[in-house]
Amino acid sequence: MKQCKELAKQIRIDSVRMTNHGRSGHVGSMLSMADMIAVLYEKILNVDPKNPKMPDRDRFILSKGHAGAAVYSALAAKGFIPKDWLMTYYCDNGKLMGHISHKVPGVEFSTGSLGHGLPVAVGMAIAARYAKSNRKIICMSSDGDMNEGSTWEAIMFAAQQKLSNLTLVIDYNQVQALGHSEEVIDLRELKPKLENFGFAVKEIDGHNLEEIYEAFSNLPIMNDRPSAIIAHTIKCKGIPALEDTVKSHYGFIPDDEVEAIIKRIEEEE
Ligand SMILES: [Mg+2]
Repeated sequence: MKQCKELAKQIRIDSVRMTNHGRSGHVGSMLSMADMIAVLYEKILNVDPKNPKMPDRDRFILSKGHAGAAVYSALAAKGFIPKDWLMTYYCDNGKLMGHISHKVPGVEFSTGSLGHGLPVAVGMAIAARYAKSNRKIICMSSDGDMNEGSTWEAIMFAAQQKLSNLTLVIDYNQVQALGHSEEVIDLRELKPKLENFGFAVKEIDGHNLEEIYEAFSNLPIMNDRPSAIIAHTIKCKGIPALEDTVKSHYGFIPDDEVEAIIKRIEEEE
């Protein structure tokens, strides 16, 4: 877990620096999922930086594409892209677009408008079944994603097709662009909702690396249906003054606060 912890720290630090340098981004959304992205890229996903289009690779779709900088950071750490691309994020003529883009090696699909990731992941899961491949299809969604009708259409279809190779991960920090989720569209109680729609569901602490690893390394949860992992997370985890705040959703850390925040992240046990 030491490597996962180091990568999670790196993702948080890169997210702070990239969004500050690019003068835009969604730092709270990135820090919320940093621990899960670290475990996925260190321990779970069967992907190869030397051969990013390897046919039987696992597919990871980030449906909350506004948080793409966290994935770019992991891709740089694992050797998919040069590290010096990171500081071109959100810049004119930069290599890394503000929302996640499939033009970046290692990224499967471009997202940004919510509700697109899971429908595509369902198609990929069906394709994997036709190809008789054991590859995993993992889609990470947000609170805002779970408000979209297209997400629930995909959930119904995945259950009907018994897509046990598909996992929906919900970065469930219960904060989204315009407010706390209970004030926007309340998703509660999410676990029985998903179970009634035909998914096998596990709830985890999305910042506990062991729990994350345990959940991702024991997929599918049940053999006859798709899996959902509800990860209880804290928006902007790692920057206490901004944790669980709506204002951390869209924004970056101002210049005079960056170094102190990075020092704190580095020193965190
Ligand atoms: Mg959220």
